[in-house]
Amino acid sequence: MNTEIKATTKALEDTRIAIIGYGSQGRAHALNLRDSGLQVVVGLREGKDEPSFGQAKADGMRVLEPAEAVREAGFISVLTPDMIQAKLYADVIEPNIKKNAALLFAHGFSVHYGAIKPRADIDVVMVAPKGPGALVRTEYQIGRGVPCLVAIHQDASGHAREKTLAYAAGIGGARAMLIETDFKEETESDLFGEQAVLCGGVSELVRYGFETLVEAGYKPEIAYYEVMHELKLIVDLFYEGGITKMLTFVSETAQYGDFTRGSRVVDASTKEKMRAVLKEVQDGTFAKEWAAEYAAGMPNYKKFKQADCNHQIEKVGAALRARMPWLNQSAAKTPAK
Ligand code: NAD
Ligand code: MG
Repeated sequence: MNTEIKATTKALEDTRIAIIGYGSQGRAHALNLRDSGLQVVVGLREGKDEPSFGQAKADGMRVLEPAEAVREAGFISVLTPDMIQAKLYADVIEPNIKKNAALLFAHGFSVHYGAIKPRADIDVVMVAPKGPGALVRTEYQIGRGVPCLVAIHQDASGHAREKTLAYAAGIGGARAMLIETDFKEETESDLFGEQAVLCGGVSELVRYGFETLVEAGYKPEIAYYEVMHELKLIVDLFYEGGITKMLTFVSETAQYGDFTRGSRVVDASTKEKMRAVLKEVQDGTFAKEWAAEYAAGMPNYKKFKQADCNHQIEKVGAALRARMPWLNQSAAKTPAK
C-alpha cells in the first residue's frame, strides 16, 4: 500500500476553490486552504444557512450564493450534509459547474449509492479526513494534519489526481498521511465503522455496562466514571500504541480480566451480527432506509436521539462534567454535527 504520497498545493495555486457548506468539515477546509495560501470562496444561502453564514463572515471569508460560488470556481467542495447533496447537485451544481472543473466530496455516499450521477465532463474526487472537522483545523494550526483518504472517481481534465493531492496538502492531510482508495471502499468502510464500532457499538457497550452496575445497586456516579469517563484513557492508549500499549499500562489483574471476560461479553455472535450490518451497507439496504427516513422528516431518528439523550447516564454525566471544567478545553468542543 502506498502511504508515502507527497503533495504540495502547487496544482491549485491558480484555481479558485468554492467550499459549499461551512459546518464541521467546511469551516476547517476553508480556513486551512486559505492559510495555505489558496483562493477560497464559501457558498452558503443567506438567511437559510445560519449559524454558518455568520461564522463564515466573522472568519473574514468571501461568501456567495452557492450557484455563484460554483460558477466562478475551478474546484468545488461539497461539504453539506450527505442527504441534501443530490438536490444541491441537480439544482445548483450541475447547471453551473464549468467543464473540467473538479467536484470534491469528503464522503462517497451520494456518488457511490447513485443519488448523484455526475456530468461526464467534470472531475469527481474525494478527500476524506479520518477525523472530525474541529480536529482537521486544530491539527493544522499546530503544524500537523489529520490523515486523509483520497480517491479519484472520474478524471475528465486529465489532472484530477494532482489537483486532489494539492487539496489534501492544503487542508494539512499530506503532513500526516494520504491513503489512496475508491469511493466504494471509503463509503462502505466508513459506514460500517460508525455503525458497528465507533458510534453504535461503543455507545451500546457503555450504556449496557452502566445499566448493569446501576441495576445491581452501585452508585450512578461511580458507574459513570467506570464505563464512560475512563474510556478516554483506554482509547488514548489505543490511539497511541494499539492494544499492546493499553495492555502495558493496565494492571495484570485488568489484563487477566480482559483476556478471560472480554470475549464472553463481545463474542463470535457479535462478529456474525457485524457481518450482517456490513452486508446491509454493501447491498444498499442502509442507504435506502436512511434516504427514506430523511425524506419522511426523520421521525425515527428524532425518537432514537431523544431516547439516547434522556438516558440516565446522560443526566448523571452532565452533572459530573459540570464539576470538571477542564474537560471543555479539548478539541472535541466544536460538535461534529
Ligand atoms: P455539517 O452538518 O456540519 O455542515 C453542513 C453545512 O452545509 C452547514 O454549513 C449548512 O449550513 C450547509 N448547508 C446545508 N444545506 C445547504 C445548501 N443547500 N446549500 C449550501 N449550504 C448548505 O456537515 P459535516 O458534518 O461537515 O459534513 C459535510 C460532509 O463531510 C458530509 O459529506 C460528511 O459525510 C463528510 N464528513 C464529515 C465528517 C465530520 O466530522 N462531521 C468527517 C468526514 C466526512
Ligand atoms: Mg468516518
